[in-house]
Amino acid sequence: MSLRLKPFLDRVLARYNRREFLPTDPLSAVHRYPDPRDQEVVAYVAAGLAFGNVKSVLAGVAAALAPLGSRPARTLTNLGPAAALRKAQGFTYRWVRDRDMANLWLMLGAALREAGGLEPLFAAAQPASAPDTLVGADGLVCALSDLAPPAVDVLRRGTRSFLPGVSGPGASKRLHMFLRWMVRRDELDLGLWTAARPAQLLVPLDTHVARIGRRLGLTARRTAGKAMVQDITAGLRALDPADPIKYDFALAHLGILGACPTRADPKLCAKCPLVPVCRV
Ligand code: SF4
Repeated sequence: MSLRLKPFLDRVLARYNRREFLPTDPLSAVHRYPDPRDQEVVAYVAAGLAFGNVKSVLAGVAAALAPLGSRPARTLTNLGPAAALRKAQGFTYRWVRDRDMANLWLMLGAALREAGGLEPLFAAAQPASAPDTLVGADGLVCALSDLAPPAVDVLRRGTRSFLPGVSGPGASKRLHMFLRWMVRRDELDLGLWTAARPAQLLVPLDTHVARIGRRLGLTARRTAGKAMVQDITAGLRALDPADPIKYDFALAHLGILGACPTRADPKLCAKCPLVPVCRV
């Protein structure tokens, strides 16, 4: 079935995997920084706050980055607990409070000082021959938590949301999205890392990708968890084994831009490249 989808998904890719749609994605925040050291830490912050509607996410990301100035990696490297709290004062986004943002900044600062950035933490855990990035992702999260200075309470709800439990049943969407940005390279994704191959990436499963994945028969599951991530990734791997997640931005934006709403709309379906293979 999957292979039959390829020409239709390729049309969605051509229509939506484009820089003109970047402003409706938290990845846009990362592209504002030219230095890869800044891009890596900004990407972790932006992906970490990518829950809720796009407008709120973009506002939350902007508020989280503004206090770090034009050179966030340098700021974070030199940031102490008191200054972090001062800079974060007043920050709030959903359940993430100023102390949680300060905690993330302090962990990223420790990673920059101790390891030179995030990729070495991922690479230390990730086997080259692994079928996916789960082990490396888990290693990255554990290392960030281990590096947390004593002032950081990693058990706070808002702080824990930056340290997702990759080994559990959840989809870990934000972490897989961060890895997509770091590992793939095209006009949107940055391709800064070499510690994993695009073939190993797992789909960052948001509500749109889950819904469209079901409509295309890539998964039969109702729960958007790790099992669905594996179903949809397997289906996309059948289309392009070397770079399956190249379809993610386009599928997500089909939903984000309102072209495939939760309740199917025949007028929109008539214009959709996926209509011949969609089960709605
Ligand atoms: S055909 Fe309609 S329901 Fe199916 S993916 Fe396209 S817009 Fe969504």
